[in-house]
Amino acid sequence: MERIVVLGGGESGVGSAILALKKGFETFLSDNGHISDKYRGILEEYGIEYEDGGHTPEKILNASLIIKSPGIPNNAPLVKEALDAGIQVISEIEFAGRYDRSKKICITGSNGKTTTTSLIYHILRKAGYNVGLGGNIGTSYARGVAESNYEYYVLELSSFQLDGMFDYKADVAIIMNITPDHLDRYDFIMDNYTNSKFRITRNLDAGCSFIYCADDPVTMEQMGKRAFSAMLKPFSREKEMQNGAWMNERSELVSNGFSIPVSEILLEGKHNMYNCMAAILAARAVGVNDDVIKDSLREFGGVEHRMEKCGIVNGVQYINDSKATNVDSAWYALDAMKTPVVWIAGGKDKGNDYEPLFGFVKDKVHTLICMGLHNEKLHDNFGDKVNNMVDALSAQEAVKLAAEYAKAGDTVLLSPCCASFDLFKSYEDRGRQFKTAVEQLQNNLK
Ligand code: ADP
Repeated sequence: MERIVVLGGGESGVGSAILALKKGFETFLSDNGHISDKYRGILEEYGIEYEDGGHTPEKILNASLIIKSPGIPNNAPLVKEALDAGIQVISEIEFAGRYDRSKKICITGSNGKTTTTSLIYHILRKAGYNVGLGGNIGTSYARGVAESNYEYYVLELSSFQLDGMFDYKADVAIIMNITPDHLDRYDFIMDNYTNSKFRITRNLDAGCSFIYCADDPVTMEQMGKRAFSAMLKPFSREKEMQNGAWMNERSELVSNGFSIPVSEILLEGKHNMYNCMAAILAARAVGVNDDVIKDSLREFGGVEHRMEKCGIVNGVQYINDSKATNVDSAWYALDAMKTPVVWIAGGKDKGNDYEPLFGFVKDKVHTLICMGLHNEKLHDNFGDKVNNMVDALSAQEAVKLAAEYAKAGDTVLLSPCCASFDLFKSYEDRGRQFKTAVEQLQNNLK
């Protein structure tokens, strides 16, 4: 029997192990760290052999195929050893794709992946399609393939997942945008990161669609250098795109025979109009009725922690954009602000260049609350651009300070530009603590 070893015992690793077992492989899972009780329970329930707290090379280097979780870099010693020994190392997505007969809509990009993926999923569900959701979001794709029989799959793919993909073929591939992020994993070379994103277009043929943003300079530079046999469907807020979608001078999103006024769409902000155009093109590519698409756009309110309105207290609107972990996403958040702003930013800086934000901060932000262990860089960059700058060491303290500085009509925006790991477990934890603090503020008024 062929032996498959899965490295990593999280959502994607455990899903891969279940699929491997189901397909009749001798299956072993190994995790260098600690496997949570939840996943331990699942592995035991399925009778899958596993180890954690370290890797036993003899049990791994005898595999014919290794499935690696996206969190483990290619230059991890054991992975290098496996590759040197000629063992194929692939990602969960590549593996599951071998057994998935559904039509696949795959979304990548530096920002907007989760929102666009969720919106497309929402539209296909509303249209009554038998559709699954997976990849970098929700439950594991491999587990979905093992246990369900979907006709369509909507998959969010990170560059790490794409790196382990070779023969995988999407039916509809989407690149939302490409801006610097995670460069630490790409030897700080932007081209490496860009090539990784473009792996989503591998194997596309004439029956497939490739949807991309014509306003994104990095994407467009690549379009000039590469050849595609897929149908090309660009979207733009600036120019008419006959084969794709665009925003016209009457503020409508249009696409060959389709149009909807932006005022009818529930999502807000320029970035979300890109997400909507990508979703319109994807849904039409798989034959969803235009009225269903329009109704979905009227009712889809977005995803938690992404420009999520989470309460008005004393006339001040509080917005949780905790997922904004890089400069580009905070740029869109600040761009969307129509009132004076109290901005809560900070956390673990991934080598940010804050300059693109200077204009917005000077024009819109009167108070900056720095929520992190090391706030010097924020002070250096923004000290001369805001009236008030204060430090906070928790979400609760940040919200309390924000409430003191904000006046009725202002917006308090948590859009941190940074990762959360200095003070919080994750961006979700940061967002929830922020929302809890806003709720407490509300309750104190009652
Ligand atoms: P991802 O899954 O790629 O991280 P999300 O949909 O979770 O993207 O959004 C992450 C952050 O980026 C949020 O702060 C959101 O407001 C912002 N954002 C969403 N869509 C876009 C876009 N198309 N371009 C730039 N920023 C975006």
